[in-house]
Amino acid sequence: MIEVRWLGAAGLEISVDGTVILIDPYLSRPGKFSVLCRKLRPSQARIQSYTSRVSGKVSAVICGHTHFDHALDIPDIVSRVHCRVIGSRSLKTLFEISGMSPEMEICTGNESFELEGGIKVGMIPSRHGLVLFGKVPYQGEIDPRAEAPLKANQYCLGDMFMPKIEIGEVTLVHAGSAGFIEPEVRGHKCHILFMCVPGWKRVPDYTAKFVQMLEPEVIIPFHFDDFTVPIRPTGKVRALPFTDLKGFIERLRRYAPGAVVRIPNPAEIMRF
Ligand SMILES: [Zn+2]
Repeated sequence: MIEVRWLGAAGLEISVDGTVILIDPYLSRPGKFSVLCRKLRPSQARIQSYTSRVSGKVSAVICGHTHFDHALDIPDIVSRVHCRVIGSRSLKTLFEISGMSPEMEICTGNESFELEGGIKVGMIPSRHGLVLFGKVPYQGEIDPRAEAPLKANQYCLGDMFMPKIEIGEVTLVHAGSAGFIEPEVRGHKCHILFMCVPGWKRVPDYTAKFVQMLEPEVIIPFHFDDFTVPIRPTGKVRALPFTDLKGFIERLRRYAPGAVVRIPNPAEIMRF
């Protein structure tokens, strides 16, 4: 049994027989004022509250790219759960800035790893979606000369990946941003596809060719929540403006008519 919980933003907790892997876990969710004007400090209270109740042993944290809403909390989570880390050079820099040197797999694209419990991870090279004014925000790498804590705009993209997780017969792909590189995706298939919603209209092939190539059975839209406000205990999230989740789903029905589209709720565990 595979259990998946959406943690908000592009964060996933995937649990198999007591082994847990986390992808882009983002729990602090600093408010808009902090994001725009201040240095970002991970919320130790929220991270501690999460890591103390995660059921199972966290075997690895995987990072798709190093924007703050994907990477901010990763060093503090790893310092608490002491697990393996899989991500880019930019993520390694973030750890160094934070004074940490965990056991880390530094990826540049197309690496694959076997984790505990027979879980396989492949790092498909990917492309970021066009979001802020039709552009990719904060490009480049996190600057090794920067000093912690960093501001949002210092959390530069780094190399970008679309992690592919294989657990037995089930394959899950994590599209943490609304973009892809067609030749890199070609040949890959998955059963469960998590798709970032913001930015989908600017990359028309993302909701057409991309889903047609992967042929998922289940599509789970995510990252549509306003990640500058906390998640309520009911799991109800406020959507970011202009995401047009309804239009996104209509387009998926057209180009992936065989797939079930499931809207996640952070308070529920999805079982596969
Ligand atoms: Zn991003």
